[in-house]
Amino acid sequence: MKIIFFTLLLFVQSCASKKMSPNVSEQEINSQSEKAYNEVKAKSKISQNAEWTAMLNRVAPRIAKASGENFKWEWLLIESPEVNAWCMPGGKMAVYTGIMPVLKNEAALAAVLGHEVAHATKRHGKERYARAVTGNIVGLVIGGAAVLGGQFLCKTQTCKSLTALSGAAAGFAIAFFDRKFSRGDETEADKFGQEYMAKAGYDPSEAIHLWERMGAASGGKAPPEFMSTHPSDVTRRKNLTEWLPQNQALYTKSPNQYGLGEVIR
Ligand SMILES: [Zn+2]
Repeated sequence: MKIIFFTLLLFVQSCASKKMSPNVSEQEINSQSEKAYNEVKAKSKISQNAEWTAMLNRVAPRIAKASGENFKWEWLLIESPEVNAWCMPGGKMAVYTGIMPVLKNEAALAAVLGHEVAHATKRHGKERYARAVTGNIVGLVIGGAAVLGGQFLCKTQTCKSLTALSGAAAGFAIAFFDRKFSRGDETEADKFGQEYMAKAGYDPSEAIHLWERMGAASGGKAPPEFMSTHPSDVTRRKNLTEWLPQNQALYTKSPNQYGLGEVIR
């Protein structure tokens, strides 16, 4: 019995590593992403801060539009001390209230959303998600234990709390919430993030100041996502300064200029 199991396991692993992932369509990834998002939505405390909610409701659609991507966009403001924000493949975003005091103004929120949205529009981690989705479908068939497996495999709290997810959606959640992007992906997200905020009508120079504040706020400890494999503060500043003139030009051409927008108190 054991031999059969391990043979099956080896077969599954070899299938999973043998480029099964490209067969998983973007539609499938987005559908698992939507399940995970709905689960987060059901299990999170949604912020009652009217001012911050209104701000997110202004900024998120502007960034979405500036990205030029035709996703089924949605966003949430989650009540949590975590300094975090994310955008899943397919355009499901969340901002945690813990990040708001660090942002200090609306343009910085646009910069963070721009960065997160760029990870989604540039399909960062697509292969990783595809592999996770495939792996867990097969795992579910064999062991029927993907849900339990998810609990053990999850590293972050958000991932662990998604216990109702099974199979492919659990695989997606693990791949998404425990994700680490490559340094190259982070740089690309910074680049397009600054472009999106400028096109959305926010002063792109604020991206430079935001990342400085984020660095200071983290105090050497890495908040989720932004600081994992991020470019060094010096490189990030250098890059954002280098891209600034072209993004200032986009900002000037945008139909509305909001500058730094409203202050976050
Ligand atoms: Zn990032």
